[in-house]
Amino acid sequence: MNKVFRRTKIIATLGPASESPEMLEKIIRAGADVVRLNFSHGTADEHRARAERVREISKKLKRHVAILADLQGPKIRVARFKDNRKVTLVRGQKFDLDIDLPKDVGDETQVGCDYKDLPRDVKPGDLLLLNDGLIAMQVDTVVGNRISCTVTVGGVLSNHKGINKQGGGLSAPALTDKDKQDLKTAVSIGADYLAISFPRSREDMEEARALLDQEGSDMRLVAKVERAEAIIEETLIGIIQASDAIMVARGDLGVEIGDARLPHVQKHMIKLARTYNKVAITATQMMESMINNPLPTRAEVSDVANAVFDGTDAVMLSAETASGDYPDAAVEAMARVCVEAEKYPRERSKHRLHESFSRIDETIAMSAMYAANHLEVRAIGALTESGSTPLWMSRISSGIPIFALTSHEKTCRRVTLFRGVYPISFDDRGIHDHAVLNRAIVEEFMRRGLVDESDTLILTKGDLSGHTGGTNAMKIAHVTDIIAAAPENWKDLCPGCGKS
Ligand code: PEP
Repeated sequence: MNKVFRRTKIIATLGPASESPEMLEKIIRAGADVVRLNFSHGTADEHRARAERVREISKKLKRHVAILADLQGPKIRVARFKDNRKVTLVRGQKFDLDIDLPKDVGDETQVGCDYKDLPRDVKPGDLLLLNDGLIAMQVDTVVGNRISCTVTVGGVLSNHKGINKQGGGLSAPALTDKDKQDLKTAVSIGADYLAISFPRSREDMEEARALLDQEGSDMRLVAKVERAEAIIEETLIGIIQASDAIMVARGDLGVEIGDARLPHVQKHMIKLARTYNKVAITATQMMESMINNPLPTRAEVSDVANAVFDGTDAVMLSAETASGDYPDAAVEAMARVCVEAEKYPRERSKHRLHESFSRIDETIAMSAMYAANHLEVRAIGALTESGSTPLWMSRISSGIPIFALTSHEKTCRRVTLFRGVYPISFDDRGIHDHAVLNRAIVEEFMRRGLVDESDTLILTKGDLSGHTGGTNAMKIAHVTDIIAAAPENWKDLCPGCGKS
């Protein structure tokens, strides 16, 4: 039995190019594990309709697909230009940003801005980067609400393009009023993950968590790390601890810290996230040329592969699937690059080998992975309520697939983001005997073609109680022995068997 499982997960951003049910189905079939609703664009109703389509198609395909709602955050933008024109700025010219200008009167000399505190956050000598860093201008003076600059790198500027300050330091809090409204929409849609844009510190993530609590939601939180101040070690650790996942949001981050620093910052962030038992997502421009071309460049292939080598849980597509010409081909290309990159031999994991553990369930998870990496086993089956056990397991790098067996659909969707973890709907309620339970799991694995009688398995589980945090046992066994140990009438003792 030699099924190839792609361990690295794929997030596909939805947009006009992936609007039709046909294209969405192709994207999911091609391997999208999570879809991203980008709240920077579109209305609540549009996102709701997209989420419904995702649920319908994943049901039809019998695939668990998680939904990631990505809040816009305090992205600072220029206002609009007269008649919606584009203006060309040339090096050496003067250009002003003026908070007091009406919203739609920008021209070659000045434009308004929607962020009222910008004049307080900048000083003469600062470098402002517009349109994802394609245009640069140095601040000469700040008088009242008018920031006068000299253009140092020219280019074309149009309505609503973003503004970043090199080195960071813009003070806008992470959650705007629009974000707070969109958070409620994400809850009502039933999204599985909520991404917070531009968090400055752990407090921003804690505020988001408190708002989710108020809504009665246990949605998992993703911190998009995209501000220069967010990668200061102490701040980054705080953000990671307060989140369930982090995203290396290379677009804005690259503008603030400079593109050359991105690769080592990415490596460090992924390593740190895994160390703290959190999930890492690598995002932006991964297959950018596929917006217009059916194949990625060699450089993009290497970029995706390197994120896999770095240990990322997921790689993300943005405009490639939201507005590009080849959305499904981009997912396909990403999937095949990940599978190939995963074949590159990795060192045996030393993750937490010299640490003490404080919890029994966590200790079982670690022990199972240590055993799996040192013994020839085909698969790991982790019975789980919330997804914690497979998450701990997947922090240890391994080539062995981890199957998260759970009766909760929410948990099935949640674990789709974890590297090397695959959800299986499995109802263990009403089973009162371990031999029956083991047999039922083996049956489910065999039915799906995951193991055969020559294989060895590792199973982790609790005391048949169905309570979160109850994992306290690990079984390593040959499939044949599990089959032999079960009573003949095991199916009668397993109320959920054959119903998934
Ligand atoms: C980024 O800046 O890399 C990013 C993912 O943010 P967004 O695409 O939401 O602007």
